[in-house]
This record gives sequence, structure tokens and C-alpha cells, in this order.
Amino acid sequence: MNIHEYQAKQVLKGFGAPVAEGVAVTAVDQVEAAARSLPGPLYVMKSQIHAGGRGKGKFKELGPDAKGGVRLAFSVEEAVSHAREMLGNTLVTAQTGDAGKQVNRLYIEDGADIDRELYCSLLVDREHGRIAFVVSTEGGMDIEAVAHDTPEKIQTIVIDPETGVTEADVARISAAFELTGAAAEDGKTLFPILYKAFVETDMAMLEVNPLIVMKDGHLRVLDAKVSFDGNALFRHADIKELRDETEEDAKEIEASEWDLAYVALDGNIGCMVNGAGLAMATMDIIKLYGKEPANFCDVGGGAGKDKVAAAFKIITADPAVQGILVNIFGGIMKCDVIAEGVVAAVKEVGLKVPLVVRLEGTNAELGKKILNESGLTIQAADDLDDAAQKIVAAVG
Ligand code: GDP
Ligand code: MG
Repeated sequence: MNIHEYQAKQVLKGFGAPVAEGVAVTAVDQVEAAARSLPGPLYVMKSQIHAGGRGKGKFKELGPDAKGGVRLAFSVEEAVSHAREMLGNTLVTAQTGDAGKQVNRLYIEDGADIDRELYCSLLVDREHGRIAFVVSTEGGMDIEAVAHDTPEKIQTIVIDPETGVTEADVARISAAFELTGAAAEDGKTLFPILYKAFVETDMAMLEVNPLIVMKDGHLRVLDAKVSFDGNALFRHADIKELRDETEEDAKEIEASEWDLAYVALDGNIGCMVNGAGLAMATMDIIKLYGKEPANFCDVGGGAGKDKVAAAFKIITADPAVQGILVNIFGGIMKCDVIAEGVVAAVKEVGLKVPLVVRLEGTNAELGKKILNESGLTIQAADDLDDAAQKIVAAVG
């Protein structure tokens, strides 16, 4: 689960990290009071969307010369006029895709005087099976280019879970950042705080880009991007509250209500499969025959007719879907249950695209019989290869 920058800063502040004062607003008429409540005279107007690269982003409605999604304002009046341009408009960044994201909320922050911009992230390092700091002196808006062109400028410092962040770790991180004086002192408390926040809230990723050294020599978390491990949310009621469903794919929200493993993708062949491995194989073979899957969908082992019907409805509701491939290996899941779910869903929402079904395993014959007698136009397939070729041919 992803959250907004202003929420991530609240979470980090709760652990004692240095963040600026700020106020989130959703309407232009809230901006003046919000700005006046901050020290000033420099305000930063930050678009709150679940995507990075806002500073270099462009508003669709404003033309190429307009300023981006993170703007400096040198007076309250300027803050208001920026808000007028930003709120309600669509910000396109390197991470949003061409459609962009509508900016429904701005975070107005007390501006900092920046000396240096550093890159600091924490993630689960799969190679070591541990949490690691990934750090660089080259923070700011070009970290992707740094990773690509000069990867030696990025260092990874792996933390031992037995000890947490040790003094030696702090010294290594501090050296990697070339910190001195007050900033080095701040690091001694900040780096363990970031680690503690990561572990205690079950984050999957924490990216502070930039972490800044200010002109007064101190460190500040200037940007924060956090995602939490969805499988651990059950133990964090307070964090679950931070979810902003308007930032998420409506089909994925509906799927999560049915406890379906569903991820929307860019292609146009809808897939309904049981088992993550078979779902991956199905997506692969669709690609092998030259098309792209519209989704990953694993209905799981113990799904009943209603859940299967819900999955089918979610898949057909995607306007990009031009054909559907149902690929079921009946183990715990019985093929007749799948067939009944598909028939029930089609009766309710209709079927406007070709449907290829491959059923194998428990009650496969019964499943095929239910489909054959349903009166639906379904192409039956014998195996995975046959199924993929048939749906690709049907979509054309
Ligand atoms: P991103 O583009 O989505 O990563 O948004 P950031 O929050 O990282 O902001 C982008 C850039 O805006 C930063 O790299 C800074 O250069 C600049 N910026 C953000 N906040 C401040 C601030 O308080 N003072 C100054 N001078 N610049 C800022
Ligand atoms: Mg940033």
C-alpha cells in the first residue's frame, strides 16, 4: 500500500525524524490560511499524488512552459496563485504514465535553504535477506540517471537484524554522504530512526529523495515516499487508515474486497487462472504468441461460485479487454465450480468478447458439460498451448 508524501512525513515525524512544518489542503480557499500558519517567507507547493518525479512533471492543461508539480512560492499571494494552477489539474510525470494523475491535494511546506541534496532509501535487500540503506551523495531529481550512468556513486549498506543500525553502520552511511559537523551529529539519531520506522510499521520501501543538508548544517527529510507491506497491514490499523483509494485502480480495489489476487496490466487479453504459478505461465504464453495480458488474476484454490463470478466481472469491466482466457487446473479448485461462476457472471453482465476456456483436473468433464449446455459461445481448448493460440487468434 502506498501513501502520500505528507502522510509519510507524519509517520516519520512520529518516530522523531526532522521534517518541515506543513499543511495539506484540498481547495484554493484554504491556501492563504495554511500559508499564514507557516513561518514563511518561502513556501513549497507540493502536489500529492502516488507517483514520484513531480518536480519535473508537467500539467496537462497548462502547456510545456508552465512550472511543474513542486513549486516554490516567495509570498502568500504567490502560493495562492500556484495553487490555482495546480489543484484539479492533471500532472504527468515519468512515473504516472501518459494519462497522468489529477492533483486533488497540495502539501504546503515551510521552505528550506538547501546546501546539498542526498539520496537515502531503505528497502528489503533480497540478495542478503536483510534491510539495507541505499545511499548516494547525488540526491534530487536525477537519481535514475545516476543509477544508470554512474552506479558506483550509489552505495548499499546492509543492516544486521540482530543488532539494528550500529554505530559502525551510522559511520559508514555518514561517510557515504560525506557528512560533517551538525549533519553528522543529526545522522546518529536519524539513521536509526529511519530503520526503526521501517521495521515497526512493516514498510516495504522508504525513499527519502532528497535528504538535505540545509544551509544551517542540519539534516532534513525533504521528500518521503513510503510503501507498506500489504500482508502486514492487519497489524497496523492506524496505517490502514492512510489508504487513499482514489489513487488506486478501481478494479484492484474491487478485487481486494473479494480477496482476489488481481493486478491490472496494459494488454488486452483478460486472464482468469487459479494459482500464481499457472497465472504467470499463462501470461508468459500469451506474450509468446504475440499478445499482452490485460491482468494478472489468481482466483485461488478455495474460491466459490460467487468469487469466480466476481473475478470474471472485474475482468470484463476493463474496456481494454478484447478477449478472455480462462485457464484452470482443478486441484483443490473444482472445474465445475469455475464453470458455474463463469456462466453466472456472463448471465449477469453479458459477453461481448471471445472467451477461450481450458479446464483440466478435478471435475473437468463436468465443467465442460456445464459450459457446453450454457448456450454461451465458448471455445474449448485442450491444453495451455492450444488455449493461448486460440485466444490470440480470436483477438486478432
Ligand atoms: P519529486 O520531484 O516528486 O521527487 O519531489 P521532491 O519533494 O523531491 O521535490 C523536488 C525538488 O524540489 C527537490 O529536489 C528540491 O530541489 C526542490 N524543493 C523541494 N522542497 C524544497 C524546499 O523546501 N526548498 C527548496 N529550495 N527547494 C525545494
Ligand atoms: Mg523527490
